[in-house]
Amino acid sequence: RFGDDEPEAKGNVTVVCRFRPLNQKEKDMNDKPCVDFGSDGKTVVVKSQYENQGPQTFNFDIVFNPDSTQNSVYEGAAKPIVNSVLEGFNGTVLTYGQTSSGKTHTMTGPDMDDINQKGIIPRMVKTVFSHIENCDDTLEFAVKVAYCEIYLEKIRDLLKPEKSNLKISEDKARGVYIVDLTEEYVSNEDEVYGLMKMGQKNREVGFTNMNEGSSRSHAIFSLTVSQTNTRDLSAKSGKLYLVDLAGSEKVGKTGAEGKRLDEAKNINKSLSTLGLVIFSLTDGKSTHVPYRDSKLTRVLQDSLGGNSKTMLIITCSPASYNEAETISTLRFGIRAK
Ligand code: ADP
Ligand code: MG
Repeated sequence: RFGDDEPEAKGNVTVVCRFRPLNQKEKDMNDKPCVDFGSDGKTVVVKSQYENQGPQTFNFDIVFNPDSTQNSVYEGAAKPIVNSVLEGFNGTVLTYGQTSSGKTHTMTGPDMDDINQKGIIPRMVKTVFSHIENCDDTLEFAVKVAYCEIYLEKIRDLLKPEKSNLKISEDKARGVYIVDLTEEYVSNEDEVYGLMKMGQKNREVGFTNMNEGSSRSHAIFSLTVSQTNTRDLSAKSGKLYLVDLAGSEKVGKTGAEGKRLDEAKNINKSLSTLGLVIFSLTDGKSTHVPYRDSKLTRVLQDSLGGNSKTMLIITCSPASYNEAETISTLRFGIRAK
C-alpha cells in the first residue's frame, strides 16, 4: 500500500489485525476460539455462534494470529512507518480494540526492557537511535518526545500532569500543535523509556467490571526526528504519533453509568470520528475530512492523510465470549481500509 503511485489525497492507510491468545479467564470459562486464520496471512474467518449467521470472512493487509511474535508485528506493521519518518515524513500507528484485546501489549509490551516481549514503541525508538548512530557526521539529528492523553475531550500532559487542559492551535510553521505541551529532547533509548515510564504512571486509569485498571483515555506518544545536512544546510523533519486508543467496547457490556457513561460517550465519539476521518481519507471521494470533530483527530491531523503514512492495528480476542465485540472491531477495520 505504500507505493509511490498512490494519489496523495487518498492518504496512505494500512489496516492490519492482531489476535491475542485466549487468556486465562477465557480458558477457565472453557471458551473455544470463534475464529480461523487463513494460510495466506491476510484472512480471518469468524465462525458465528449466533443463529442465521454463517461464517464471516475479513481480509486485511496482514492478519497476525495468536502465535505471532512481537518482532513479527514490528516488522510487518511498524518498520515501514519508522523508515518513512527517518526520511522526513509524518507517520501514525494506532491500536484499536476492546479493553484487554492487546492494544498496550502491542504498542508498549509487558516489559520495555525485555528483548522479546517489548512492543512497537521501544522497537521503533531503537531503530531511530541505531539509524542516527550509523549515519555519517554530515547529518545532525535532534530527537524530541512528548506524551499526552485525551480523556473526556481534555488533553493532559503526561510528562507534566498538572497541565491538564491543553489547547490545540495551528500556524504555518508548526502546523497543528498542542499549545504548551512538554517536549523533551532525548539523546538515547534509555532517556525515552524513562520518560515513557513516568508518563505511564500518570495515565488516567479507570475501572470497569470488564477489566479492572483498563484505560479509558487515549494515550498519544510522539517522537519527532529532525535532521540537518551540515554541508548544504538542507533540513527535514518527521513526526511519529504512536496512539494507544481507549477501549472500543460498547457501553452496555460494561454496565456503565454516571461518569462512566460520559466516558463511554466521549470515547465512542472520538473513535467514530477517527473512523470517519480514516474512511474519508481512504475512499478517495470525500471532499471534507472531519478532523475538527474530535480532539484526537485534530491532534493527529498533520500525521493522517497527505504524505503521511498511517498504520491502524486492530486488536481482537479470539474467544467466543467476545464474538460480538470482535466482529464490531473487524468491521471498523474493514471500513478504514
Ligand atoms: P488492552 O491494552 O487492549 O486493554 P492489553 O494489551 O493490556 O490490552 O492486554 C491484556 C492482557 O493480555 C495483558 O496481560 C497482555 O499482556 C495480554 N496479551 C495481550 N496480547 C497478547 C499477545 N499477543 N500475546 C500474549 N499476551 C497478550
Ligand atoms: Mg491498554
